Amino acid sequence: MAAKKRKYVDDYIQFGFVPMQKGDTEVPQCSICYKTFSNDAMRPSRLKRHLSTAHPTLVNKPKAFFEMKSRSLKKVKLDMGGTFQQRSSNVVRASYEIAMLVAKNKKNHSIGESLLKPSMLVAAELVLGKDKADALSQISLSNDTIKGRIDEMSQNIKDQLLVKIKESPFFAIQCDETTDIGNCAQLLMYARFMSGNTINEEMLFCHSSKSRATSADIFNVVSNFFEDNQLSWKSLVGACTDGAPSMLGLRSGFIQRVKEKNPSVVGTHCVLHREALAS
Ligand SMILES: [Zn+2]
Repeated sequence: MAAKKRKYVDDYIQFGFVPMQKGDTEVPQCSICYKTFSNDAMRPSRLKRHLSTAHPTLVNKPKAFFEMKSRSLKKVKLDMGGTFQQRSSNVVRASYEIAMLVAKNKKNHSIGESLLKPSMLVAAELVLGKDKADALSQISLSNDTIKGRIDEMSQNIKDQLLVKIKESPFFAIQCDETTDIGNCAQLLMYARFMSGNTINEEMLFCHSSKSRATSADIFNVVSNFFEDNQLSWKSLVGACTDGAPSMLGLRSGFIQRVKEKNPSVVGTHCVLHREALAS
């Protein structure tokens, strides 16, 4: 059998108690010390006992005194809720903004906890005081947080881009394949698409592989990307390869495979575009 739920009675204010909603039950809260008790304590004898033991000097105060106390308690609750929420959302936002700066400056994820946060705290304590520094200490800049935030933001950018490409009546892709100093092959894929009345160009993805990629390898990377992100080959109107020597031999093979997916794709080879991509 479920325990009987006790209800708050307006008269309980004479013991200094106000009702507080906890889930689907009401619990008594002391308007003097803000302590809350179980629903079972919602009865005159228990409330009276708290007042006489915890606040003996207030036992003979009139009802109006506790009513005044309960009004200020309500105000405190609102203020605490409001400022706490505002502060915590700013703390989270600061964490994202700083993660963005770390990414834009191509710094290590660990720089947040090793350098940025200690610097912030030292400066804040010296310039603004200890209280302000304590507020800043809540900003999470750990290695894992920075990495998580950057991953989340890049995924979000990718999602936004994919939505735009899917909304575009057609789109084209451009591949740029280079080898970096570590002898890693980097395949950069760009997309051109309609957004509103303009043609936009954005980097779609960057894929690195250890060995020199064949046209089949490159096609597979692109094909997997299309599949993973539900991009339609039917909407693809053009595929452009760059002027890198490594791409020259691959070009025909790659374009041929794309055409197998959609015969109407226009395959082009663009040397001039490389400069635009590099800038
Ligand atoms: Zn109390």
